Amino acid sequence: NKIDYAEITISAVSPTQYPEDGLPEIVLAGRSNVGKSSFINTMVNRKKLARTSGKPGKTRTLNFFNIENELFFVDVPGYGYAKASNAEQEKWGRMMEDYFSTREELVLGILLVDFRHEPSEHDVLMYDFYKHYDVPVFVVATKSDKIKKSKYNKHESLIRKTLKISSEDQFFTFSSFTREGRQEVWDAILAYISK
Ligand code: GDP
Repeated sequence: NKIDYAEITISAVSPTQYPEDGLPEIVLAGRSNVGKSSFINTMVNRKKLARTSGKPGKTRTLNFFNIENELFFVDVPGYGYAKASNAEQEKWGRMMEDYFSTREELVLGILLVDFRHEPSEHDVLMYDFYKHYDVPVFVVATKSDKIKKSKYNKHESLIRKTLKISSEDQFFTFSSFTREGRQEVWDAILAYISK
């Protein structure tokens, strides 16, 4: 997949700033440090379109990345940041509800989880949040280069079981180091939005 155009359109702090292009939007969620920035950069073949964040979980903005004028990646701030105050968490929740309850362009949610570990309580809540809003989910298990191939099944099973992944949802292993999964995720996204 060759990407010629990928730019951040806006870091929106309020719904009035969401883009009005009407392009399909794919939300990317995952806990801080899961490898979300690296995922975005790998998907679009850039070194640093998405910042690998120095202050995880601090931002309370939705970042809209226009990809080839075909779709937006909507990067939601990492959750599960231990030092986030209650007030910050509340703001995060309100922003997410605003977006999910009103946004017609939203077609697909990607949940990034670390392939090495059992999904956290926050990951489960995020998966259920997608489901609550009837958003189809792709689960992307990051940092797969850290896991031996012989252990793939075991790790995938644990993630599927903990999140209670529905049978219609897709699961991918992904590594921004080896680029494993990049093509598969692109193929699935493009197949999905052209439906
Ligand atoms: P974010 O906070 O979710 O945006 O995560 P980053 O993309 O900033 O990555 C967090 C840390 O994980 C960094 O130290 C990355 O180098 C590392 N990382 C990201 N992707 C991978 C990967 O595919 N494999 C490995 N081994 N490490 C990764």
